[in-house]
Amino acid sequence: MNVVGHLINGELVADSGRTQDVFNPSTGEATKQVALASKATVEEAIAAAEAAYPAWRDTPPIKRARIMFRLKELLEQNADKICEMITAEHGKVFNDAMGELQRGIENVEYACSAPEVLKGEYSRNVGPAIDSWSDFQPLGVCAGITPFNFPAMVPMWMWPMAVACGNTFILKPSERDPSSALFMAQLGLEAGLPAGVLNVVNGDKEAVDTLLTDARVKAVSFVGSTPIAEYVYTTGNAHGKRVQAFGGAKNHAIVMPDADLDNAVSALMGAAYGSCGERCMAISVAVAVGDEVADQLVDKLKERISALKVGDGLDNSNDMGPLVTRQHLDKVCGYIASGIEEGAELAVDGRDLVVPGFENGNYLGACLFDKVTAGMKIYTDEIFGPVLCVVRVQNMQEAMELINAHEYGNGTCIFTRDGEAARYFADNIQVGMVGINVPLPVPVAYHSFGGWKRSLFGDLHAYGPDSVRFYTKRKTVTQRWPAGGVRESAQFTFPSNG
Ligand code: NAD
Repeated sequence: MNVVGHLINGELVADSGRTQDVFNPSTGEATKQVALASKATVEEAIAAAEAAYPAWRDTPPIKRARIMFRLKELLEQNADKICEMITAEHGKVFNDAMGELQRGIENVEYACSAPEVLKGEYSRNVGPAIDSWSDFQPLGVCAGITPFNFPAMVPMWMWPMAVACGNTFILKPSERDPSSALFMAQLGLEAGLPAGVLNVVNGDKEAVDTLLTDARVKAVSFVGSTPIAEYVYTTGNAHGKRVQAFGGAKNHAIVMPDADLDNAVSALMGAAYGSCGERCMAISVAVAVGDEVADQLVDKLKERISALKVGDGLDNSNDMGPLVTRQHLDKVCGYIASGIEEGAELAVDGRDLVVPGFENGNYLGACLFDKVTAGMKIYTDEIFGPVLCVVRVQNMQEAMELINAHEYGNGTCIFTRDGEAARYFADNIQVGMVGINVPLPVPVAYHSFGGWKRSLFGDLHAYGPDSVRFYTKRKTVTQRWPAGGVRESAQFTFPSNG
């Protein structure tokens, strides 16, 4: 069986140690294996990244940006191949993979602005004949650890900007769908990144722990589930690293009585069931304000779910593919059972779905729960599957209190025609990314992405302007050239212009 290896110092290398099967979620078959890097292999990658750093740091930003321009072209030329890899290992529908890739490429486009965003700040005459400037210098070796659900896009949140800022990088993709990230890194080298500037190690906890504890790694970006995000944040911090760790989510959409309901239902269908609900910005809770809205909402959703096409991701006529692994399917089904046990009404049960020709695939039809309450596990936990929970409340305040009390604060949205209500919601909701009649308010590449509360450990958001700050450190230089050989005597008061 083909083994997906590592990319270290410009070379594809296999690892003679442990491996893990990689499955096609649509057929349930193991199609290849992924190498799980040992500590020694990760240390080789760190050494390569450290050796490549001095020359890369001193490479003019415009030259680094030109490589990003070439990378964008290569990614576009290879889009079909990349998306086939995503669908074959993740399961999402090919066109959805194209959407993911496009959002990834937009981060490469942003990285093309490196010379502009790295210009720094300059002040003349901060004192008599004294000038001062702030420089944004790279950190050194940076690492990125990414989840299975956006195998191409999330790595692009990290390494293009990290290397454009002058760092060298080690990516540790998800072991469940590693191929697209590895291939895209190879395109980075083809575009002109020197050997060692970008390295990929595949693996699991052993690889991650090595990156978190090795003193040569200066910063770590992580995206994944909240327990691991918290672990990565605390472990990385304890080892003196800068860390940003993005975690899980439970994104609520409020449906107000004045909302355009048909529009809201279409938006909810895509946001709840697109990519099988395996998106950190998926809407997994619809909060209906008033029983009348709730009844109508549930009826309309049931009707739309009955028309949903679920099947193999390579067939673009499908709306939804399979879940990523059998284990994940079982976990999601466990939540459905717990919801029934705890008294929620399962308005649509997708569990008996069979996709002809793909009987062993990890398929689950769309599920809809009504009358979900805040104490239930299906409400408190991130399910990460095609399961939408409807919670009924009596007013907007109650809806907002529910959202603000939840441990996660990644994304949220309100459907309304009332501008005043929308503005109040955006101002007061304790969530990092807010949509107004927009169900998936994923910021574009020139803003930055990040949740609040237990959806993000760290301060700076991903990509966009915050990524420039994350992948650089500020150095402020204050300079004076004494004129005419004048020598001043020692000054014991604190220097000021007073
Ligand atoms: P995960 O936490 O299982 O894995 C993420 C990464 O951590 C992988 O590379 C994995 O190899 C590594 N990892 C797993 N267990 C580890 C351990 N014990 N020690 C060290 N490293 C470990 O997440 P996943 O299932 O791949 O991805 C889905 C999760 O990611 C969801 O919770 C989703 O909400 C979240 N996510 C968040 C965002 C965001 O921006 N907030 C974006 C995408 C996904």
